[in-house]
Amino acid sequence: MEPTTGPGRIQLAGRTVQLAWLREHSTQAAPLFARARAEVGHASCLCRLPALRLVIRCTRAGRYHVAGWPGEGEQHDPNCPFHKLAPGLSGRDRYSTEAIRETDDGVFIRLATPLTSPLDQPETRDAPPEETPHEAGARRSVGLLGLLHWLWEQARLNVSHPQEGRLTWRTCHARLCHQLRDITINGRSTDEALYVVPPFTPAAADANAAALDAFRATLGRHGTTERRALLLGQIKDVAPTPYGVAYRLAHQRTPLYARAALHARAARSYRHAFGKSATQHGATRIALFVVERSPKGHLTVVDLAAMLTTGTYMPADSSYEVVMADALAACRRAFIKPLRYDSADAVLPDFVLTDVTPAAYVEVYGIHGRESYDRRKAEKREFYQRQDGQLIEWDVAEPLPVLARSGRRGCAPST
Ligand SMILES: [Zn+2]
Repeated sequence: MEPTTGPGRIQLAGRTVQLAWLREHSTQAAPLFARARAEVGHASCLCRLPALRLVIRCTRAGRYHVAGWPGEGEQHDPNCPFHKLAPGLSGRDRYSTEAIRETDDGVFIRLATPLTSPLDQPETRDAPPEETPHEAGARRSVGLLGLLHWLWEQARLNVSHPQEGRLTWRTCHARLCHQLRDITINGRSTDEALYVVPPFTPAAADANAAALDAFRATLGRHGTTERRALLLGQIKDVAPTPYGVAYRLAHQRTPLYARAALHARAARSYRHAFGKSATQHGATRIALFVVERSPKGHLTVVDLAAMLTTGTYMPADSSYEVVMADALAACRRAFIKPLRYDSADAVLPDFVLTDVTPAAYVEVYGIHGRESYDRRKAEKREFYQRQDGQLIEWDVAEPLPVLARSGRRGCAPST
């Protein structure tokens, strides 16, 4: 008999069902969703007892699904799909409800980068001025890196658990697309506003090419505006062209083109993703591009945000963090990478270990003797003194510290 509690089990109008089944059969389950919404007002997650409430959402198209109850993410089991880090451990906290509005109908995002540009004005290719948080501290729109981090966090791609197999692009794509179903960005549904590069297989090649063509067809002139859209993919390499660079992506033959000045700015802004050590230790780079269609039909990049990840798509802020994330996974630790979104100044732990109570923190110290860096290190130590969890520190000039859970056998990080 299947257990009646545990991660992934949901109670809906008195019936216990698997979350995976609900997600695949949302049409079949619609009467159950409707009853639960009318009679109970919410669904329940059975990862822990007493059960935790879940929001029942219904999109305008009549598609039901469940989401975590605001402010209760921390109470779920760390392996539960609705688990979230404590407040203050994610850059998500810095946004106002104007920037990210979560309602019963879905999530509405106000992206700082416009997805249309008027055709009757001279083109300005610069991003709008960086928004600084006002007194209340809340940002009123989301930047590109913020959106990329938000998507990663929603799809739980910053969570590593030993019970899950090695994450592939196929899994990333499926989880991201699932999250995108009820999201609206700058008033446009993500069906047409955001294209996630699908995983390549010879059997899927024709379907993938048709999907990219359909996406490209939504770009370009619409009345008096030029329509842009977002494209999310994995950068394989950056090749020089006569006018700038071509970003060649994994799983997609069609490259994206960018002018030299734009790439130079991106390389400065996302130096870990474009630096020399970016592809060491099996690391990779994920980018969210704003693209336009050129008169010849090429996809040209007008802006982008990029992040460094491990070979299994766990975000990392430096190549040392890539080494640490891989070592933690090799030691079968359950951990989360807190994401800073658009707040470069956010003081967040490098990793949070969720298989111990209270959660433990991991810090990687890579650079010595820079005043700003030393100040930041002091700030971080102060931050941990306020938390009561254990702190594991790695000074990269030294060997890796012991990462196995106490009482367990040691583990050799894979290299
Ligand atoms: Zn749960």
